[in-house]
Amino acid sequence: MTKITLVHHRDKCIGCNVCFEASPSNWKINEEDGKADLIESKETKEGIFVKEISHLEVEENKIAEDNCPMGIIKLNK
Ligand code: SF4
Repeated sequence: MTKITLVHHRDKCIGCNVCFEASPSNWKINEEDGKADLIESKETKEGIFVKEISHLEVEENKIAEDNCPMGIIKLNK
């Protein structure tokens, strides 16, 4: 089965909370800098975090992708 990944360009995050509201099991706001963290992701390049998710998590993260005001969430499937 094809891997489904979420990509977060964290540098540009404004901490608006939209991603957390869409998928609280994958996103949380970092208390230190106020930006979102993609939970259990790996930093593949500076400021770019990637995580594999299950097909069950696609729908809620599509909402996050579509509604992130900075356009910095990418869902690849
Ligand atoms: S929706 Fe986008 S800008 Fe808002 S907290 Fe999440 S990643 Fe950051």
